Amino acid sequence: MQGSHQRVNTRTGHVVVIGGGIAGLAAAHRLLGTGLRVTLLEATDRVGGKLMTGEIAGTRVDLGAESMLARRPEAVALARAVGLGDRLQPPATATASVWTRNALRPMPKGHLMGVPGDPAALSGVLSPAGLARIAEERDLTPTAVGDDVAVGAYVADRLGREVVDRLVEPLLGGVYAGDAYRISMRAAVPQLFEVVKEGGSLLDGVRRAQERAAARQRPGPVFQGIDGGVGSLPGAVADAVRAAGAQILTRTPVLGLTRTAEGWDVRTDTRVLTADGIVLATPAWSASTLLAAESPAASAELAGVEYASMALVTMAFRRSDIAATQALQGRSGFLVPPVDGRTIKASTFSSNKWRWVADSAPGLFVLRTSVGRYGDEDHLHREDAELVDVSLRDLADATGLAAAPVDTEVTRWIGGLPQYPVGHLTRVARIREEVARLPGLRVCGAVYDGVGIPACVASAHRAADEIARDIGGVLAGKITEEIIDSPPLVEGARGEAGQ
Ligand SMILES: Cc1cc2nc3c(=O)[nH]c(=O)nc-3n(C[C@H](O)[C@H](O)[C@H](O)COP(=O)(O)OP(=O)(O)OC[C@H]3O[C@@H](n4cnc5c(N)ncnc54)[C@H](O)[C@@H]3O)c2cc1C
Repeated sequence: MQGSHQRVNTRTGHVVVIGGGIAGLAAAHRLLGTGLRVTLLEATDRVGGKLMTGEIAGTRVDLGAESMLARRPEAVALARAVGLGDRLQPPATATASVWTRNALRPMPKGHLMGVPGDPAALSGVLSPAGLARIAEERDLTPTAVGDDVAVGAYVADRLGREVVDRLVEPLLGGVYAGDAYRISMRAAVPQLFEVVKEGGSLLDGVRRAQERAAARQRPGPVFQGIDGGVGSLPGAVADAVRAAGAQILTRTPVLGLTRTAEGWDVRTDTRVLTADGIVLATPAWSASTLLAAESPAASAELAGVEYASMALVTMAFRRSDIAATQALQGRSGFLVPPVDGRTIKASTFSSNKWRWVADSAPGLFVLRTSVGRYGDEDHLHREDAELVDVSLRDLADATGLAAAPVDTEVTRWIGGLPQYPVGHLTRVARIREEVARLPGLRVCGAVYDGVGIPACVASAHRAADEIARDIGGVLAGKITEEIIDSPPLVEGARGEAGQ
């Protein structure tokens, strides 16, 4: 029998994943089992990016992201896939507050990113004048939205500024560290955009959205943490990726990307790796630099993505020292409307929120504050000790806390969160269109489809699947050519490119 009927596989596809945050790791994990060889390159000395644990008073806590939305499946599914299923843990209390009108008040129920379905729920949180303004909504003429609209501008137009300043802004700030009057409704609160596009009263629209959400609602907790910290997810994914034969190189910043006749050259300071495919999972500024030569248009779009920086101030108190501080008991923390001019924008009472934190240090009470948001980053230039002092001052005003911490840790997240202003999704579509012109390269991460961990994982899966398909196709094409051209022969092999 002629060898021309036999399969000859002279190449195994090689994918280089650039960036070892949760997106890069999820992409590498997704590529396992495709038959492709995977190498992940991370600039710093650890994987995880914005997911990171550290120690406070000898106890392990999250110093970055701490909670995963579980209403979307991707993040918890990844945690389960890498053996952390038993350690998933929902918040022990979801009783959050908002520090408004000089008191900690329970976060109202029945709102969509701060926009109420029923104005009565906001009683106390807003002034009587603010509540009266909401009641005027049904008499207003429709507000135009077009392709996109800033959440704050639209809601203020319909319901007045107070609901934006006291609820929408701190809630959106909690996710994006951004400015509600700039943030895209289409990108950041798509459920709201959906009802707004339908027209009519916003209050009625929110109620409709809530009914739809309730009908779609899956059982189980809305959020999940991980015993030991969400920051332990990257290490577990990295272990799984390595165990399956992929390589992860830390302290390996990628300095340049060049297209070649065969695929890609990936340049680091010590070597040039050849790759058939690239998953680019870095923040926008880094992706912009790496794409400058091969896709100036994508690079220019990425350079336009702005970021917010923030600091987290984690503090541990002796539990006995805070026992008498009533406001610290039973709630998961509080949000702070920026309009009140405080320095902190939120505080999370980790020992109340996470059972694993309380269990691992029963004698301690751990909390953290966050400082800094888009357009308000001056505080980040202060010394660590000053950030601790201003946090303690605000905490004292909000809760009456008078104790001194036994340990503190300041974590600065410079360029922590990409901003999604009006038009963001159009920009992302343009980036993807330009990137699609580059064979065998895809982008993923917080820049594109959402900053939350599940959205980052979803974008990673999309990028990995597209790369596997593309490279599978290219290698299949090469194999076919080799079959036709080659003399009879050689050992049969199942294509390793995942077909
Ligand atoms: C303080 C904070 C708290 C948060 N809390 C939550 C939360 O509770 N829940 C939630 O869902 N989300 C949260 N987020 C958002 C979420 O954590 C991030 O959006 C997400 O982790 C981003 O993942 P990523 O992989 O896209 O990017 P990153 O985590 O930024 O990872 C990118 C990686 O690429 C590397 N890199 C950059 N350039 C290069 C290069 N040239 N070569 C090689 N490597 C490179 C970087 O070193 C980095 O490790 C939080 C974010 C912050 C900042």
